[in-house]
Amino acid sequence: MVKYIVVTGGVVSSIGKGITAASIGRILRSYNLKVSAIKIDPYLNWDSGTLNPYQHGEVFVTHDGMETDLDLGHYERFLDVNLSGYSNITTGKVYMSVINKERKGSYLGSCVQIIPHITDEIKSRIRKISTDNKADIVLVEIGGTVGDIESQPFLEAVRQLRNEEGHNNVMFVHVTYVPYLNAAGEFKTKPTQHSTKELRSTGIIPDMIICRSEKPLSTSLKNKIAHFCDVDSKAVINCPDASSIYEVPLTMDKENVGKYIINRMELGIDECAHDLTEWKTVVDRLKKQDSTVTVGVVGKYVELEDAYISIRESLKHAAAHIGVNVNIEWINAETEINTIRLKNLDSILIPGGFGERGINGKLDAVHYALVNKVPIFGICLGLHSMVIEFARMNGLKDAHSTEFDETTKYPVIDMMEEQKKINDMGGTMRLGSYACKIKKGTIASEAYQSEMVEERHRHRFEVNNEYRELLEEKGLIISGTSPDNFLVETVEIKDHPWFFGCQFHPEFKSRPERAHPIFVSFIQATVDSK
Ligand code: GLN
Repeated sequence: MVKYIVVTGGVVSSIGKGITAASIGRILRSYNLKVSAIKIDPYLNWDSGTLNPYQHGEVFVTHDGMETDLDLGHYERFLDVNLSGYSNITTGKVYMSVINKERKGSYLGSCVQIIPHITDEIKSRIRKISTDNKADIVLVEIGGTVGDIESQPFLEAVRQLRNEEGHNNVMFVHVTYVPYLNAAGEFKTKPTQHSTKELRSTGIIPDMIICRSEKPLSTSLKNKIAHFCDVDSKAVINCPDASSIYEVPLTMDKENVGKYIINRMELGIDECAHDLTEWKTVVDRLKKQDSTVTVGVVGKYVELEDAYISIRESLKHAAAHIGVNVNIEWINAETEINTIRLKNLDSILIPGGFGERGINGKLDAVHYALVNKVPIFGICLGLHSMVIEFARMNGLKDAHSTEFDETTKYPVIDMMEEQKKINDMGGTMRLGSYACKIKKGTIASEAYQSEMVEERHRHRFEVNNEYRELLEEKGLIISGTSPDNFLVETVEIKDHPWFFGCQFHPEFKSRPERAHPIFVSFIQATVDSK
């Protein structure tokens, strides 16, 4: 029988509900339980693909090509699983599917309503994940904060789920924030009390309250919260700010989260039979090392690190794998590219992106890396920038991508043929996992140690095949292609310490325990050239 753990949030947003839920999952995994996860986003967008990264951070791409919320990245990294696109439920998906059914006549004769039609649709999507993944535990994180109008149907659906699945099979965890008031010199529990009251007004009684705070809370304060919010004192868990997100499962384990859940849900396993040693090793490796390398990430959304969260984490995983610290300099491609800034870097990474803003800065960064032989790693738009600048430096004056200049004389990057007939913006790119054939004797083959790999994609533009031969003559090495050799997947050059661009996004597959081989190769080159 599958068990559901529903995670809601209170008081304020951005308190790390996703990390908290993922940490619960990691602890349960250490009991040898199969854990899966769902993120519910109560907005009306069908998926995250059309959202500005400044609002919601990175768009995480699943292996089956769904553009999702960044929390799915936390789940994949903490649980070491590959989630499907069904793990991201939005109001848009729920309503669209109900309306499509209504148009087909599936509800013939009835008045289609939020209860039961929308709530039934939500429940069936939640149950689908447990059956598809044959999970023992499904974590269901409801985005937003309790009290938001948008989340009402989802809260009602999970309330019903508890009645239908039974008390022992559904558990509610409420994550709140306990602020510290400097003027009063004390923590304040009132916001937690109020948000719990708000949650109760939906008919949901929390089984566990996880209190986020800047500093640790005392036992008496936790008892006070237990008393006022009417939960077991053992189920008031404190999760103070941690120096690394990977420490959160260990902090929560000390608070006996796993034990409480095992007993509360009557899982019938030994509450002590778990082992987080492997995770502890990862956390130790991620701690301070003796030497540090500095990587400059040249992008458009650098003011918000969440916009490049998987890249940031992949760099950390790779650095930990090698045994160095990584200091990331976030450099605005539009305003901050200058020699002084670039001189302080040991290597450069250009992430994916859309639109013209900042493109010249990215090309300047590639130019600098080529001239000064600094290791450089380009991902998607990063690869495009590398190919454009390489072409320009090899006689194709003003070469460009037709994404930015439709009339360029040398369109070395052009829209993929199948993309030319598409007008809609949502979910229409080349998305998800595709195979890539690797050429021997290249950075790619040395890193992957494999002739065929699978990586996740999200793009409309590609290297223009009409320029392939010419670029190869000038020294560009096409080290990875689609199996039919039609699409360029990775590029390199000789006579440079490390110049590697990929059309795919390796950052979505890096795990704390298994750093991605390309990121490892990049950090190694950074260390070597320092
Ligand atoms: N804008 C480019 C494209 O659509 C690159 C996309 C990306 O970097 N993910 O192909």
